[in-house]
Amino acid sequence: LVPRLEPFTSTIFAEMTALATRTGAVNLGQGFPDTDGPPSMLEVAREAIASGVNQYPPGPGRPELRAAIAAQRSGYGTRFDPDTEILVTVGATEAIAASMLALVQPGDEVVLFEPYYDSYAASVALAGAQRRVVPLAEAGDGRFAVDLDALAAAIGPRTRAILVNSPHNPTGTVFTRAELEGIAALCVEHDLIAVTDEVYESLTYDGVEHVPLGSLPGMAQRTLTISSAGKMFNCTGWKIGWACGPAELVSAVKAAKQFLTFVGGAPFQPAVAHALEHEAAWAAALREDLQGKRDRLAAGLAAAGFEVRRSAGTYFVCADVRPLGFTDGAELCWRLPERIGVAAVPVQVFTDNPDRWRHIVRFAFCKRDEVLDEAVKRLHKLA
Ligand code: PMP
Ligand code: GLN
Repeated sequence: LVPRLEPFTSTIFAEMTALATRTGAVNLGQGFPDTDGPPSMLEVAREAIASGVNQYPPGPGRPELRAAIAAQRSGYGTRFDPDTEILVTVGATEAIAASMLALVQPGDEVVLFEPYYDSYAASVALAGAQRRVVPLAEAGDGRFAVDLDALAAAIGPRTRAILVNSPHNPTGTVFTRAELEGIAALCVEHDLIAVTDEVYESLTYDGVEHVPLGSLPGMAQRTLTISSAGKMFNCTGWKIGWACGPAELVSAVKAAKQFLTFVGGAPFQPAVAHALEHEAAWAAALREDLQGKRDRLAAGLAAAGFEVRRSAGTYFVCADVRPLGFTDGAELCWRLPERIGVAAVPVQVFTDNPDRWRHIVRFAFCKRDEVLDEAVKRLHKLA
């Protein structure tokens, strides 16, 4: 293995899920739902397979899916030409990796907010570039906030791009319009490319709005907007994602993408197109449902003795383990499955500054209520 990939031999999700399976633990570690997406979407996929949609789809993705993505993005007031400004990828993961491979090179720096989703550091390393991390700030109100001064300080002459994930995994923070405007101003000032990861765009709670960075003034021409169907329609295993942006950026990403996977997920593409067009109400109901699950798990964690942080989006809620007498979230998470039968993920593994994040653990609430209740029951044994 080449040295630059040595830190990336395994993922916390694979390891924690394996441990949860081995110990029979309730898995609130890896974020994936335990119920299916809209029945009509599943039916379209079945029909597609039955009717022979089983060979390579077109390189940029099936036209009906690109048209459906363009229509969905127009809900944010952003316009993309389905023929030149939208590329279907094998999940958001491939879009992120391909964008790094296509847009940054050795010697370049990419700014990430910390904690960062694990694939970002790996994708920056794949491209041979360096990451500069900017920690989110634990605000007194339990929210993790963007520190614009720290961001400004992290941008240097070699900084080429910034990767922005909102709604944010693992904290559940949804970046505010003001925070995004601050990021946008720095992107314009330093002529940066913004790559956004909006896979949780449909999962914001309490009326909090998702603002795409690319919808802000001055940003359309420099932003590559990435999202995927997995979280929107409970189909994380289908791996249908997309990148949208100016033709120049999208065609660059396509150059890398076509030699990673060429294409993917033929029969799932019409199914996701169908869901984007006809199942917005289903997605809205999912959001309501998940908001209730967030409340259910947050209340349970608090009752079990954790100090719960605020989550306004995603599948995740973070909690401080110190009130229970623990100091190291990783140590706790590695012992938790064996000890009480629950799996969670330590946030420090998504950072370059583990000391700063040692006390924070992430729990996924995208599970059936009885699963959440069972986890909470077991977590009470920690007190
Ligand atoms: N970005 C974030 C923030 C995620 O949490 C995930 C994982 N679900 C992904 C990207 C990967 O998305 P996909 O499964 O579409 O590749
Ligand atoms: N995105 C999911 C999470 O954060 C996991 C995806 C994966 O296993 N790579 O839990």
